[in-house]
Amino acid sequence: MTTQETIGLFDKYVIGNYGRLPRVMVKGEGAYLYDADGHKILDMFPGWAVSGIGHCHPKVVEAVRKQVGELIHIDNTFYSEPQGKLAQLLSERAFGGKCFFCNSGAEANEAALKLARLCTAKEKYKFITAEGSFHGRTFATVTATAQPKYHEGFLPLLPGFAYIPFNDVKALEAAFTDEVAAVMVEPIQGEGGINVATQEFLSAIRELCDAKGAVMILDEVQTGVGRTGKWFGYQHFDVEPDIITMAKALGGGVAIGAMMAKPEIAATLVPGKHASTFGGNCLACAAAVATIEAIEEDNLLQAAAEIGQYTQDKLRSLKDKHSIIDHVRGIGMMIGIQLTRPGAGIVAACLEKGLRINCTHDTVIRFMPPMTVTREQIDAAVDIFDSVLSES
Ligand SMILES: *Cc1c(COP(=O)(O)O)cnc(C)c1O
Repeated sequence: MTTQETIGLFDKYVIGNYGRLPRVMVKGEGAYLYDADGHKILDMFPGWAVSGIGHCHPKVVEAVRKQVGELIHIDNTFYSEPQGKLAQLLSERAFGGKCFFCNSGAEANEAALKLARLCTAKEKYKFITAEGSFHGRTFATVTATAQPKYHEGFLPLLPGFAYIPFNDVKALEAAFTDEVAAVMVEPIQGEGGINVATQEFLSAIRELCDAKGAVMILDEVQTGVGRTGKWFGYQHFDVEPDIITMAKALGGGVAIGAMMAKPEIAATLVPGKHASTFGGNCLACAAAVATIEAIEEDNLLQAAAEIGQYTQDKLRSLKDKHSIIDHVRGIGMMIGIQLTRPGAGIVAACLEKGLRINCTHDTVIRFMPPMTVTREQIDAAVDIFDSVLSES
């Protein structure tokens, strides 16, 4: 099929709810993507933060191949080894929590919000989230997403949500009534433009939740599973949440989500209260186990921290040359370049030259390379970015 023929199928048969670029991707390998017309693209935003260890990591490919021939899916009527093993690996890398598995970030957050209602006092039904957040597209998670543009057309939303400015301790205190069941924030806002939480803000959430009998939920769907140089974003701070959620990079490209909760909280999620048919299936869990093992065996946390810093330094060095760059921010491989004007044209021009990056909130370029990226690949990516800025 030609590129035009494939695009024709979409025009006719696929709902047009995405703004797609006119390329058909056929192969991925590490930090490279290949399209149907033979272009090789350096991918600094692989799979929208899903392919955290690069496209088709050999260890994930091998684990999936092995699992797919044994048992693809078994329902949660039974036990299965990959799910148990994955839960253990995650628990040992966070706060000794227990896991519930699902298939996406929104579902993981949905589960966290429901659990927060279950494990807190009856009168508590409210949630506090932060402006600029992104928590998903289901009704509860889009309500939690405190950005009006995502709410348009869907009012009235779920009741009980209060929004505060990110990192605003005073607003947090003011919003924290006795009905609050949980506060949910991202340790680093991803879609919101790579905004890093302050220690004060996270500490204040922790203290208020403790004082009021509410639950602290951290949405680690984008920050989780290594990209920041630690397993989870919160580990850069002196704070321990009650619940974390993860998805995106967890399965090395295979769809999986998870919610992890402290055991005493998790104990309130009893049979009948929540479930997911596909959640924790063998294939996805085997892929996630292989992803975690690959990160460990290949020392990718250290790589994410070191090469992430290297990338940030290189991008910062462009600032003197290009007035469009206001500043660079982020942690590890989660990097935002704040521009002084919109960046959509830059993203398109980079793709023409073989570099894939992303622009969010109009003026923030996201550079989120895979943890397996090499310094040479970063050099090549920054060179393309540099040349595009020179021409824009
Ligand atoms: C992407 C994202 C989600 C939603 O995940 P889906 O898998 O698209 O449902 C939720 N929270 C954060 C922080 C995200 O980046």
